[in-house]
Formats: sequence, C-alpha cells, structure tokens
Amino acid sequence: MAIVGSGLMLRRMTLMIPFDNSYARLPGVFYSKQTPVPVRAPRLVAFNTDLAAVMGITPGEVEEMAQVFAGNQVPEGADPIAQLYAGHQFGHYNPQLGDGRAVLLGETVGSDGLRRDLQLKGSGRTPYSRQGDGRAWLGPVLREYVVSEAMHALGIPTTRALAAAETGETVLREAPLPGAVLARVASSHLRVGTFQVFAARGEMGSLKQLTDYAIARHYPLADGPMGLLRGVRDAQVKLIAQWMGVGFIHGVMNTDNSSIAGETIDYGPCAFMDSYHPNTVYSSIDRMGRYAYSNQPDIAVWNMAQLATSLIQQMPDREAAVEEATEIVHAMPDLLQEAWQAQFRRKLGLTEAQEGDAELIADLLQRMAQNQADFTNTFRNLGRAEARDQFLDPVAYDDWLVKWQARAEADALEVIAATNPAFIPRNHRVEQMIQAAVDGDYAPFQRLQKVLVAPYKDQPDHADLQSPPAETEVVQATFCGT
Ligand code: AMP
Ligand code: MG
Repeated sequence: MAIVGSGLMLRRMTLMIPFDNSYARLPGVFYSKQTPVPVRAPRLVAFNTDLAAVMGITPGEVEEMAQVFAGNQVPEGADPIAQLYAGHQFGHYNPQLGDGRAVLLGETVGSDGLRRDLQLKGSGRTPYSRQGDGRAWLGPVLREYVVSEAMHALGIPTTRALAAAETGETVLREAPLPGAVLARVASSHLRVGTFQVFAARGEMGSLKQLTDYAIARHYPLADGPMGLLRGVRDAQVKLIAQWMGVGFIHGVMNTDNSSIAGETIDYGPCAFMDSYHPNTVYSSIDRMGRYAYSNQPDIAVWNMAQLATSLIQQMPDREAAVEEATEIVHAMPDLLQEAWQAQFRRKLGLTEAQEGDAELIADLLQRMAQNQADFTNTFRNLGRAEARDQFLDPVAYDDWLVKWQARAEADALEVIAATNPAFIPRNHRVEQMIQAAVDGDYAPFQRLQKVLVAPYKDQPDHADLQSPPAETEVVQATFCGT
C-alpha cells in the first residue's frame, strides 16, 4: 500500500486533519454526540493519498492511521456525531433512521475551497442503530471504496473513499465475516430524509435552520426553500443522466440515500450493467424492480416530490408554495429527458442536436437489448469493427450503423472515446476482488483502483478487465451493505 511519497516516508509524521466543523455546531436536535466504538485489531488496508492532499490532511504513520480510521482514536479537532434523518424505504416512510453504523468525525475545507464531511462507516452502534450491530463487513467496504473512486474518475458526482481499515473482529451476516470500517468523504451527508424528519414532526424551527444551512453550504445563490428545491432538482437531473450514461444501477434509491448535494451516496447493492437491458436489477432486496435501471429517472422525480413536500411545510403562503413546488417537480421529467438525450447523443459521438436523434438512440438501445450487447463495450467501440461482435446477431448492429454513418460528424470517434469509458468496475471483478481480500490478497483491489483511475484510456495490459463475465462468473444479485 502506498501511503505517502517515498521522500516523506523517511520522516516520522503525525496524522493531521484540519477540522473545521459546522454541523456539530448546530443544535443537538440534528444529531447525537457519538464517538466510534473501538475495535480489537485495526489494520489499515487502503489510504487515498490524492484525496488526503486535496483535503489538506497530513498522513501519519500507518499504525496511527489504522487507529484513527478504524475508530479507536478520535483525531484532534474532530467532534464526532451520528446524524439524524428519516426516509422513504421502497416507498414506505420510516419516521426515524439516522446514522445507525456511522459517525461523522467532522469537516475539512480543502485547498480547493470545498467543505467536505469525513465519516466513519461501520464504526459501531449509535442511538439510531435499531436492530443493527453498527458494523460493516469487508466486502461492502471495499466495494464502496472501489466503485465510488471509479465514479469519481468517470467524472460523476459521488462521495469518495479516504481510507479503509479491517477491524480484526468478525461480523455476523449470512456467515461470520471480517469486519471493516470505511472512511467516507462527502460534500455533505444531508439527504432528502434529513428534511423529512423535521417536516414530519412539525418542527418548523429546525426545518428552517436546516434549510438555511443547506442553502449556505450547497446552493448559496438559492432564493429560499424553493430555490433550494430547484438547485437540488437540477443537481439530481445531472447525476441521474450520468448514471444512465455509464449503465450504473444504484439499487437503493430511498429518500435517505438521495443526496442534497447531488452526489451518488450509499453504495449498497449497486452495480454497473454488463449486457444491456432496461429492466436490469441487481439488488436482492428489490424484488419488485422499483430501482431497476430504467426506473431511476422516475424515482429521482418521486424523491424530489418528497423533498418538495417537506420544504413547503415552512412556507408562510402555503398555497403559493404548493404551486411553485409543483411546477419545479413537474418540470423534472422533461429536464431528465433532455439531459439523458444530451448524454446519449454524446455517447454516439454526436455533438450537435438534430431531428431524429432520439429515434437513433432508441433504435440502438432496442437492438442492444434484443442482442444482449454489452453496454460498455458496445458504446466504447461504436463505429469500429469490435462493436458488431457485441451483438448476438451482428446484422442488427450493421443495419443501425448505416443510419448512424449518414449522421455522424467527422470527429465522432474521438467524442466516442472521450465519452464512453473503456473500464468500469464490473460486478464480477468487484466480487473476485472482495473474495481475494477476504483471503488476505489485496492485489486485485490495488489493480482495480489503478486501472479505474483512468477509465477513458485504453490500457491494453488490462484488457481482461474489459470483458463481461464468463457464464460461471456472472453475479446474479448484490446484497445490501449491512
Ligand atoms: P442503508 O440501507 O444502508 O442506507 O441503511 C438504512 C438505515 O439502516 C440507516 O439508518 C443505516 O444507518 C441503518 N443500518 C444499516 N446497516 C446497519 C447496521 N449494520 N447497524 C445499524 N444500523 C444499520
Ligand atoms: Mg443509507
């Protein structure tokens, strides 16, 4: 594991995190003071030097960082809390969720001027744990580490991973499994559900304070609660269009997993699609397909309607607020359609909108679905011979290609290469990586990270990571990160 540059290794250093906490200074209704619960034998297994540098964090010695990122030692300047929130889970309102297995250590303001949360996930029980043990096992921790960093490299807003530590303890899931803690970084951990809890309880003072806080932190130009709603809506539109563009399926788009900052948050049973089908679902708990690939835009609208419902509670003129909020949410499907179309037009290598684009995109997707074409490899290779190999019946592609060629601009292949990744964290590779790490081998974890840092670059030495799973490697379902 590369902890710090080789020159720095020689000096004895102490971990320094320049905390500048704001949420912990809000009134106690928003959280519970909570320190992480110590673990038996912390072992640092990953540390993100690039992210640490942006955050102004001075790395310390490995042993010290293991203590801090496993939760055994609270770093100087931290003010650890578990945040309160509620949320609709699979459409059903749960009046109280909250950080049941996470603790917000505090915030930093980076060299880029951005404020970021630093949270430990898997750090033990809190007042919001309900029946849970407050812990995470190594699999979901490494999945979130790899997939969130891959998302970042793809250019998609996301929480990030600063560190991961094994706990030396066993957690009981389907089987006894090695425990771990993830140090997660987010623009904030404010969720739609954070607003819902205070709106539902009728605590208007807290709702207003939270609204002001969110505006100041994320949408400083927003004009009041409806301005905030507009800002979050636009951020979610961009985010969902980007997910669709890389074939990402979040898996649990509950309102407590819907970020006010518009970042991808809570990587549980998420996955990138291999062969394209709009109804693809991976999550073992999503039996109705509520969060299937093609449902994600509709669900994002549904989630924004919940945010709207919460925000309007504080408006003095309720009738006018309902009207404005309705207009904001009702505009979302068209905005999503537009963003989606712009995304996919670019994926086809087309930079200018033209009549017939929507049909050209839909036609390709339909042929891909009928021919079990690999989503990533088809788009990456559009206009090149390799694309037709993705189709059960290559003629289905050839027929489409004729239409595309009549429309394609001169620089299409360059646009295609810059827009369509060669590398995504394929689910079977993620599962293989987890299995290896459980057996003590972190080489696949290191390799995935190294390759996924440059997803738009051809990396011939790693071509095997571009292949869809062999029949025996297919992962049918991914499980919740609990
Ligand atoms: P999630 O589905 O991971 O977004 O989690 C939904 C809710 O369940 C959140 O309030 C989590 O904090 C809580 N939760 C999930 N796993 C655990 C666990 N192992 N122990 C305690 N709470 C948990
Ligand atoms: Mg969650």
